[in-house]
Amino acid sequence: MFEKVLIANRGEIALRIHRACHELGIATVAVHSTADADAMHVRLADESVCIGPPLARDSYLNAHAILSAATITGAEAIHPGYGFLSENADFAAMVEEHGFVFIGPAPEHIRMMGDKIMARRAIAGLGIPVVPGTGGPVSDAGAAQQFADSVGYPVLIKAAGGGGGRGMKVVADPGDLAEGLKLTRAEAASSFGNDAVYIEKYLSHPRHIEVQVLADVHGNVVHLGERDCSLQRSHQKVVEECLSPSLNAGQRDELGAMACKALAQLGYRNAGTLEFLFEDGRFYFIEMNTRLQVEHPVTEMVCGLDLVREQIRIATGAPIPFRQDQVNFNGHAIECRINAEDPQTFRPSPGRINEYHPPGGLGVRVDSALYSGYRVPPYYDSMVAKLIVHGTTRNECLMRLRRSLDEYVIGGIETTLPLHRRLVRAAEFIDGTYDVHWLEKFVGRAG
Ligand code: ADP
Repeated sequence: MFEKVLIANRGEIALRIHRACHELGIATVAVHSTADADAMHVRLADESVCIGPPLARDSYLNAHAILSAATITGAEAIHPGYGFLSENADFAAMVEEHGFVFIGPAPEHIRMMGDKIMARRAIAGLGIPVVPGTGGPVSDAGAAQQFADSVGYPVLIKAAGGGGGRGMKVVADPGDLAEGLKLTRAEAASSFGNDAVYIEKYLSHPRHIEVQVLADVHGNVVHLGERDCSLQRSHQKVVEECLSPSLNAGQRDELGAMACKALAQLGYRNAGTLEFLFEDGRFYFIEMNTRLQVEHPVTEMVCGLDLVREQIRIATGAPIPFRQDQVNFNGHAIECRINAEDPQTFRPSPGRINEYHPPGGLGVRVDSALYSGYRVPPYYDSMVAKLIVHGTTRNECLMRLRRSLDEYVIGGIETTLPLHRRLVRAAEFIDGTYDVHWLEKFVGRAG
């Protein structure tokens, strides 16, 4: 087992990783920007190193500063968390070249899945259905028109290097296609440094279903069931559930077996998530994330497993300590992402927390780095807490979620708690009948 791990991240996920390390007896090194000197992930870590000024590109994205911090503190391995450098294949390769262990997949798999066109090709090549789309990048309006005519409108133009719900444009009218293509390419070039875009059919009522997979270096691959992440705003997840209310056991087994087979064939290692759209009983692959996901706790609550611990164990070369038939799905879990944002306009609302009272009780978990007196900095992602609730049934989980949201006090800044409180009382959420487009309409209606 490692003796010391550097956590190349901040906020709740840095704390989350720190907790798994400490339970394993591993010392932690936190890195932080000057804006985060008082952050909880720094306070709890065994050691900390300041790696630069507030802007992420000068600190949390500064690979050289992070590697220097690992060198001077004598860390053996680096956990990247999610976001920042977690899906940067060059960083993963640098970590290994400098003699550290990267707690994650091989650089080649990060690179392959980081380009959505390559990922679609690789996954389709393994016999998995993908959303109907162009086989490769599209640069001229004629080819775009031809594809759109063949599948029908609306279509979705997507940047190959896109992520986090950015770099996507829906085109409903043939007259808007050429302009949409031009705009998306320009945006992709400036945001992702890669102007390649492709086009997919825009599905009218899909659910977002993703499968959590773990793979070790001995060829064992297991899946931990699915998460339903259909509650989204601007193509970004807001609430996630495990298991999905829309799948039956047969569909779960089919999806899990398909994902495990694919990752075994690729020779993938560590944790990964295959994302699908699910419409009219059929799965269509959209992308793969080669890292720990924000929403991993719902899987942990249902499976009774610590995913970060498993990631660390796999990185040491240990085999996964259980077989597929030993994975049990117990009850239901739901996660609410709570952002420091105005709940109506979604404008970021950084500032000082003057009152903080998280909910508690049976089946309630709060993953957050907030504390009373903490100042939420304006420089980073606005998600400040995840409320995760578990129940023996989905109904119990919903009741517990309602009362937990009502208990939660975050004073001094605006948060999206009021939106979540409305959402858990909405009939479509309670019935589990929503699709990926539903929340956007609900926000407009209820706002
Ligand atoms: P990102 O990498 O930015 O998260 P994804 O490809 O994972 O992008 O898509 C994010 C979300 O956008 C999906 O969960 C879904 O809600 C929506 N989406 C993506 N592709 C399609 C599609 N072809 N039709 C309808 N919605 C889509």
